[in-house]
Amino acid sequence: MQQASVALSSYKIGLPSADLVSVVNQCFQCCKCSAGCPVAAEMDLLPHQMVRLAVLGEVDRIVNSKSMWLCLTCHTCGARCPNGIDVPALLDPIRHQVLQQKREPKDNPVPVFHKIFLQTVRTFGRVHELFLIGMYKMKTKTYFNDMELGWKMFQKGKIHLFPHRSTHLSEVKEIFKNSSMK
Ligand code: SF4
Ligand code: SF4
Repeated sequence: MQQASVALSSYKIGLPSADLVSVVNQCFQCCKCSAGCPVAAEMDLLPHQMVRLAVLGEVDRIVNSKSMWLCLTCHTCGARCPNGIDVPALLDPIRHQVLQQKREPKDNPVPVFHKIFLQTVRTFGRVHELFLIGMYKMKTKTYFNDMELGWKMFQKGKIHLFPHRSTHLSEVKEIFKNSSMK
């Protein structure tokens, strides 16, 4: 138990670290979280395994997994867990700190997507799909992937050439200003 408090204490953005530690320590490995997770099939560490590693103080193994970035924050695990353990409450502070310290894995496109998504929201107050796709393709050098799908979406009016700025842009900018996402 002590190990968990040591390892998680460096990841204290979000839930207060002491609360987070006491919550994850209640896990008794029933696996209900993993059984209901919609992206479990793609994960290299299942949700119950990430919780176990956190309890054991092996947070770096979570950081270096694909799973940490694949979690959709859908909260299905939290709803199913008999102890109310919500895996995103464990992962969000870790992801946040890794991004702030620019320690995200370079070969993983998911954190790249997250950052560009937030950049579009910060710039326009909402997502502009064409900007998002263009930036993502430049950063990941996947210029010709999903071209056919993109063209179909464009034809159906799902991708707009020009951004529509939110009428609440100043409020969105205020949220970013007051957050740690400077
Ligand atoms: S559902 Fe809760 S108690 Fe069961 S393994 Fe997952 S986190 Fe642990
Ligand atoms: S929040 Fe993440 S870990 Fe939990 S069920 Fe959804 S995708 Fe899986």
